[in-house]
Amino acid sequence: MPNFSLMDSVFEAAARQFPTPFHLYHEAGIRARARALNAAFSWAPDFKEYFAVKALPNPRILKIFQEEGCGLDCSSECELLLAEMLGMQGDDVMFSANAMPPEEFAHARAMNAIINLDDISDIDMLAENGGIPEVVCVRYNPGGEFLMGSSIMGSPGDSKYGWTREQLPLGLNKLKEMGAKKFGLHAFLASNTAGNSYYPTLAGILFDLGAALEKECGMPLDFINLSGGVGIPYHSDQEEADIARIGEGVRQEYIRVFGDPAQARVKIKTELGRFMTGPEGWLVTRAVHEKDIHKRYLGVDACASNLMRPAMYGAYHHIHVCGKRDAAADTLYDVTGCLCENNDKFAVDRWLPRVEKGDLMVIHDTGAHGSAMGYQYNGRLRSAEILYTQEGDFRLIRRAETPEDYFATLV
Ligand SMILES: *Cc1c(COP(=O)(O)O)cnc(C)c1O
Repeated sequence: MPNFSLMDSVFEAAARQFPTPFHLYHEAGIRARARALNAAFSWAPDFKEYFAVKALPNPRILKIFQEEGCGLDCSSECELLLAEMLGMQGDDVMFSANAMPPEEFAHARAMNAIINLDDISDIDMLAENGGIPEVVCVRYNPGGEFLMGSSIMGSPGDSKYGWTREQLPLGLNKLKEMGAKKFGLHAFLASNTAGNSYYPTLAGILFDLGAALEKECGMPLDFINLSGGVGIPYHSDQEEADIARIGEGVRQEYIRVFGDPAQARVKIKTELGRFMTGPEGWLVTRAVHEKDIHKRYLGVDACASNLMRPAMYGAYHHIHVCGKRDAAADTLYDVTGCLCENNDKFAVDRWLPRVEKGDLMVIHDTGAHGSAMGYQYNGRLRSAEILYTQEGDFRLIRRAETPEDYFATLV
């Protein structure tokens, strides 16, 4: 079930203060999620969540995670700069390399960030750009299909990320010779998973593998990084993941492989993005146009520049009409933006209450990979981001782009 915790009066009040479209984020909700995650893993030695910056790269949001004791997972120079803006460095920053420009390694090393190496060849690149740190993380790709029970959860065999099983001991031995003292192990095998068994299954695989590699290389395993992938209920018939149960499932696997967590030393890290902020963001837009041809099209003032997931992946986002939550959904619409691209549709064949021009529409679950994926195709500009604070006011945390921004890079 998408998140219905905010009343329509909140969206309406925000829309009186700021022109649509905008993304609205709920501070209290984000904090509650960070706290629930930290509580679910409080049994683990030195547990730390590194919020995946790419999901919602706004410093005001990142500061909330910092205040809740989380670190940041960065994958680019600008994401490292965002961490630096908040004074974060060292163990508070994870740098996830993949086909990375060499100088970004040097930047991450200068911040003393934890480096997660995506490929065995990255060892030499890291040695030449900042040097090999005492603790290095490596990313595993088992290949083939990732199964849970009999269902295919992901296809690591087609994924560009990570090292093969054979490469791991070779690379770890090399890292050890080059001065590494401990290693971390990471894998991201399935995205936006439903239910509560993804993390425990992945943890079981990584705990066993980490223990085996420790023996094969004689280098201690410092941490397991479970990465992202815990999903959210975009559809009304889906259930919210139970993070406490997920934490307990991981604990059972931990005990099986490492014994009592109170006596053991292997740390747990996560890099959740979607689960942390996805349901705590909404794209607020207004109905501006309606046409009735071979289908009925409802035009809104947002477009794929503000939220690309439906156009890019055919992703489902729940939509409700402010003030009409209880009205019968008796009209079939395609809800569209104004891009000259026929995939610029927030919904296809969606039953909604009858919408009037000017009605406020709320697109749910835009708090992760929403505004962050914005772009300027067709000369359409990215919208504002607004934080609904714990104090109950609305704070502009990113202004909408203007034509000056669009022209700013011309030479
Ligand atoms: C995208 C990403 C994440 C976050 O994934 P979610 O599905 O948003 O939880 C975590 N780690 C890495 C390396 C990523 O690329």
